[in-house]
Amino acid sequence: MGLHDPALSSAAIAPNAEPLLDRLEETIRRFSETAARASEQTGACQQQVRDQIVAAEGLTPDPSTRQIVDLARTMLATLGQLERNMRRSEAETAQLRADLEQARREADIDCLTGLPNRRAFEREFARAEADARADGSTLQVAICDIDKFKSVNDRFGHETGDGLLRAVASVLGECAQDGCFVARHGGEEFVLLLRGLSRQMAVDRLDRARIALGERRFISRQTKQPIGTISFSAGIADVLGEANPRDALAKADAALYRAKESGRNRVLCAWDMAAGTS
Ligand code: GH3
Ligand code: MG
Ligand code: MG
Repeated sequence: MGLHDPALSSAAIAPNAEPLLDRLEETIRRFSETAARASEQTGACQQQVRDQIVAAEGLTPDPSTRQIVDLARTMLATLGQLERNMRRSEAETAQLRADLEQARREADIDCLTGLPNRRAFEREFARAEADARADGSTLQVAICDIDKFKSVNDRFGHETGDGLLRAVASVLGECAQDGCFVARHGGEEFVLLLRGLSRQMAVDRLDRARIALGERRFISRQTKQPIGTISFSAGIADVLGEANPRDALAKADAALYRAKESGRNRVLCAWDMAAGTS
């Protein structure tokens, strides 16, 4: 289904930017260390010059001593300026690091729904799989796709459609508790990682969200027309039984396809399909 959605292909660009961001961050970190060291050394150097001036002023004044003292004063002023510049660079670098961190956080958020986006999901999926394998816990992946969403857009307009996407995101977002993760995969599709739950508990959690969504009655904010109810269909698969998390996602997608085929507004499990019970 949505795994082949052309609207999702732009997310493939994002991983290329990741190593660049890492390098930029490392360069900024090194620069900030160098700037901090340099401003420390400049400070120490100023103290030495100041001591020399005091010592020279204690000597019998003669033209050459005065010349050296004048020179040392000029040097002291230059060092002072240098230290101030270094401190400013340090502050600017700290700001740059904070901005970069903020940009990284924003790059992981879907701006329409506020949920993590596909890029964040990919990273979380790899991490959750490795962690679940390491600690022997369970991990399921689910894909949810809003039913007949195109017709909502067609009948009530794209803005109303956007509002409904936010509402579905908020209902699904409530599944994100105790180690579970919810993201917008793209378009009208959402993905969930359910960690540390039995198969039945994972299905129940998803079903609760589906039922909660079904109990809501929507009205178009733009036209005030009643929209009625909306639903989603979902496919869920075990991750750890597969050699590759991508295969689990493909199985969840196949279960979603079956959920659509068999009437929508339901959660189907890849393991039931494998056992031939669905
Ligand atoms: P199905 O039950 O088979 O999933 O039917 P569907 O209409 O939901 O599926 P289809 O793939 O035909 O249409 C998906 C629609 O989702 C089409 C597209 O315009 C809409 N859509 C995708 N992203 C957004 C979005 O960000 N905002 C809005 N308003 N609509 C979106
Ligand atoms: Mg879809
Ligand atoms: Mg759909």
